[in-house]
Order: sequence, then structure tokens, then C-alpha cells
Amino acid sequence: MKGDTLRADFLVLGSGIAGLRAALGLARHGRVLVVTKDQPTESNTGYAQGGVAVALGPDDDAGLHLQDTLAAGAGLVSEAAARVLVEEGPERIRELASWGTRFDREEGRFHFTREGAHSRNRVLHALGDATGWEMVRSLLERARVTENVSVRSFACSSDLVLDAGRVVGCRFLEEDGSETTVLGRATLLATGGAGQVFAETTNPPVATGDGVAMALRAGAVLLDMEFVQFHPTALAVAGAPRFLVSEAVRGEGAHLRNGAGERFTEELAPRDQVARAIFRENGAGRGPVTLDLRHLDPERVRSRFPRIHATCLRYGVDVSRDPVPVTPAAHYVMGGVATDLHGRTTLPGLYAAGEAAGTGVHGANRLASNSLLEGLVFGARAAEAMVADGPEARVGPDVPPASGTPQAAAGRRQEIQRRAWDGLGLERDAGGLRGLIAFLEEVRRTAPSPPADREAAEERNLADVAWSMAVSALFREESRGGHFRGDFPRADDRFLGHTLLEGGRPRLGDVGAPVPERAPC
Ligand SMILES: Cc1cc2nc3c(=O)[nH]c(=O)nc-3n(C[C@H](O)[C@H](O)[C@H](O)COP(=O)(O)OP(=O)(O)OC[C@H]3O[C@@H](n4cnc5c(N)ncnc54)[C@H](O)[C@@H]3O)c2cc1C
Repeated sequence: MKGDTLRADFLVLGSGIAGLRAALGLARHGRVLVVTKDQPTESNTGYAQGGVAVALGPDDDAGLHLQDTLAAGAGLVSEAAARVLVEEGPERIRELASWGTRFDREEGRFHFTREGAHSRNRVLHALGDATGWEMVRSLLERARVTENVSVRSFACSSDLVLDAGRVVGCRFLEEDGSETTVLGRATLLATGGAGQVFAETTNPPVATGDGVAMALRAGAVLLDMEFVQFHPTALAVAGAPRFLVSEAVRGEGAHLRNGAGERFTEELAPRDQVARAIFRENGAGRGPVTLDLRHLDPERVRSRFPRIHATCLRYGVDVSRDPVPVTPAAHYVMGGVATDLHGRTTLPGLYAAGEAAGTGVHGANRLASNSLLEGLVFGARAAEAMVADGPEARVGPDVPPASGTPQAAAGRRQEIQRRAWDGLGLERDAGGLRGLIAFLEEVRRTAPSPPADREAAEERNLADVAWSMAVSALFREESRGGHFRGDFPRADDRFLGHTLLEGGRPRLGDVGAPVPERAPC
């Protein structure tokens, strides 16, 4: 069903930290429409607990934060992007505090905690363990009172609109299944992560990688899609969602124990190492692995982690008194739509920021709590580029509706998720990846297109994103960071570069300058 065509100067897809920060930056320069597919608060950002890494502590500086970011990224961090992150991060955080985000303080000063692979107490948090929720709350409140910004909820973007190679807007599906087209001079993908590709994930249902899938179908280059971070400790209670038990819990001294009650890994080692150690304990039948906080002061546990305490209690686990059963789960996608340092993708008119973007800032493995900061810093930068590139850009033409009869979902979501967990999870090999790619190619051939509703759009996107991950993972015949190949268990410096997926084919790009030139207009 064809609906309206709307016009805005700037179109922002997604209301997480990257989209909202960008929208606030754009508001002084034109009308901004933020389109989001659920309630505006529903996003990975809204679930972020531990905090945001920022070099603002008395014994810290941007150089130390940079060193830790480079070390976690296993040789693949784009240093220029990481410098931008750590150097601009403090200003973005002070700005957010001045806009009303209630970061936790002790004696009036910001309070910082430690997380894995950080050399300093650098992780700033809010309302104990509800940091992301508080950040979104304050950004949304500011957006509501900012002239020129409007937020349209429960509208799921389905495909980008192109005119002569330039992105001029986006189609989206309303809740009643009608299609609306929004045209604008610049479009930002801030659609977040893709944890829902996997059967086990900490991500909420909205995280289906829609922006990455739309960009892939439109011909944009993707970067490093094989690098997925599996969080070591999601709550493993049958029938319960894989609720994240933050790394900050281990930062406060919790221990990991196997079924025999033994500690078996260094709790604050990089996430991929801890996640695989747990996966192996479980696989070897020495599980189930538990997180043990019983030696910590129960009052402190309850006050420091109120949300974790309350949520686990709902599923029958009192974290201050019971060992907490945990499992690894897909958590964060390091790769995304390839962008330069200003959010520009390889398609004119199209920008990306936050988890949907691939700047190379995380390399092969993200340093804990660097992603909220990424959303703020690169959301602000993308907004600046959208304004700077804008004046000569045309607002798009009238466009016909998507061709073809809208199709319902084929009901393959769970099959995609299960097969991706098996073939593309913590340990991969060529046989499993080839089987998965063959399956996904068949799913993609018959995917609902154009999709009739959000469910159909997400099913198609999950297949596209899983395919891009599997093809990139098959290409990288080594193990590095979040990508572990059982058949190539060691790092191999012949692969010391970013994976660029271009025209459906992977190739190796430069570590330092990952993003290829834009396609000509
Ligand atoms: C449980 C959990 C805990 C975390 N803890 C931390 C932490 O402590 N520190 C840290 O730094 N990082 C943490 N992360 C990661 C971090 O939250 C995310 O990487 C970051 O918030 C991503 O922000 P974003 O703005 O890019 O995307 P998101 O916050 O995911 O926002 C994406 C937005 O796009 C919308 N959207 C998606 N598809 C469409 C579509 N087709 N049409 C319209 N709208 C769409 C979504 O509804 C959502 O509003 C955590 C993640 C999870 C899941």
C-alpha cells in the first residue's frame, strides 16, 4: 500500500546514541526527521549498563586510552579513528553532562570504574548500571525541546532510495503496512547492531542489522563484518532472555568458576579470550560456568548493580547470594558500513555512525565501553559532514513506490539465527561457513521483497547481514580478535588489513586507511 512522500533536509534512521547525537547537531541547519522502528527508547543504547569509557580521570589521558584501544583491537585498529575517539570523547561527555545526563559521582566528581583490558579506572556510569538508558533519556528530552527535530516512531525503514547513484532518501513501513518515502539531502544510518543474527544474543529484538543490509543492497562497501564480539557473561537461565551481566561485575571482583567450582580464566582478560574459555568449559562438560559474587559485600553488590540484581531476581537468581549461570552471547558487531572519519560511506548522500558504521576504530575487538563513546563522537562528526557536504546536494525527485507485490515473512528468522550461531559463532571453520553461505544464498533468493511489514523486512535483513558476515569470515583464514577459525587458529599477518566487502566480494584493505574512495556521483 503506497502512502505519503515526506521531505526533510536531513534523515536520521535510528534513535540510539549515534542517531540522537547527530540529530541534535543537525538541528541548527535544517529540518531533521528521526525515523525509528519501535519506541524511541528501544535500542542497544537503552540496554547498555556498564558505562562509557572516557579519559577524564585524574590519572588518565587520551594517550593511555588510545594505547588500550589499539591493544584490544589485535593489530586492526585504524589509529586515526581511535585518536578521534579518545581525543574528542572528553568534550562530548562534558557536553552530555551539561545537557542533563546524570553520571554517577563521588564527592562531586565523576566516578570511574575499571573494565577488562583498560589500564585505568576509566568507565563512567550513570544510575549505577543503567548508563545507556540515562543517556538516551537525556538526549531524547533534549531532542523533544529542540526546534527542527521530529521523531517518528514505529516506522521501519526498508530500502534506500537512489537517484543516479546518490542516496536521496529511504522507504519505510508504517505499523499498518503502508509505505512512506522520505526524501532528504543527506541520510544517516544509525540503526545499530545486528546481534539478532544469532540465536544467543544480548541485543534487543530491534538489533537486526537493517542499516547494514540496506547499504549492502544499495551497493555500499562493508567493512570487517566477520568481527563480532561475543560477550562472555549473559544470564543462562532456561526460558529467560540472554540478559547481560556486565563486565563491570567482574571489574568489581566477581569470579568465574566451572562446574567443579574452580577458577579457570583471568576474569578481566579481553572479551574474546574469556568468552572462548567459557565456551570450552561448557563444551568439555565442565560447565555450567557461573559468575560468583558471594565473597563481595552484598549491600555493595545491590547498590552498585541495581538493574542486574533486580532482573536476575526475576529469573530466580539473587546475584548477591547465588552463583549466576552464564553463557557467551553475540553482543557487538565491530564491522559495519565502511565510512571515513566523518561518517561518509562510499555512496554519495549516505552516512553511517555508531554500531552500524565500520570506521576501523575497534579493529578486531572492541575495548569494553568504547561504543557508547563511538556513537557520541562519530554521530556528532557525521552531522557536521552532512551539513558541510549538503548545500549543492539536491533534494530527491518524486519516486515511484517499491515495485512488486509486498511479501510476508517466510518464517525463517529462527532458522537463520540457529544456523548462524552454529556456523558463525565463537568457533568457525571453512566447512561450517560454506554450508551456512549456501543456506543463506537460498534464503536471500526467496526473501520477501519488497517486504510487507517489519517482520518481513527484518527477516530479509538478517539473511543479508549473516551472509556478509559469513563471506567475510570465510575469506579471513586466520584467527584474530573476535574472529576465531578452528581450522586457522593463529593470527597470520598476511591478513593484517580490513576486510572490504565490495560488489559481493571480499578483499583486503589497508589498516590505516580502510575506506575506499566514494563512487562518483
Ligand atoms: C545489553 C547491552 C549492554 C551494553 N553495554 C555497553 C556499555 O556498557 N558500554 C558501551 O560502550 N557499550 C555497551 N553496549 C553496546 C552499545 O550499547 C551499542 O554499541 C551502542 O549503544 C550502539 O548505539 P547506536 O546508536 O549505534 O545503535 P542503537 O543504540 O542500537 O540504536 C539503533 C536504533 O535504530 C533503530 N532501528 C534499527 N533498525 C531500524 C530501521 N529499519 N528503521 C528505523 N529504525 C531502526 C533502533 O530501533 C534503534 O532506535 C551494550 C550493548 C548491549 C546490547
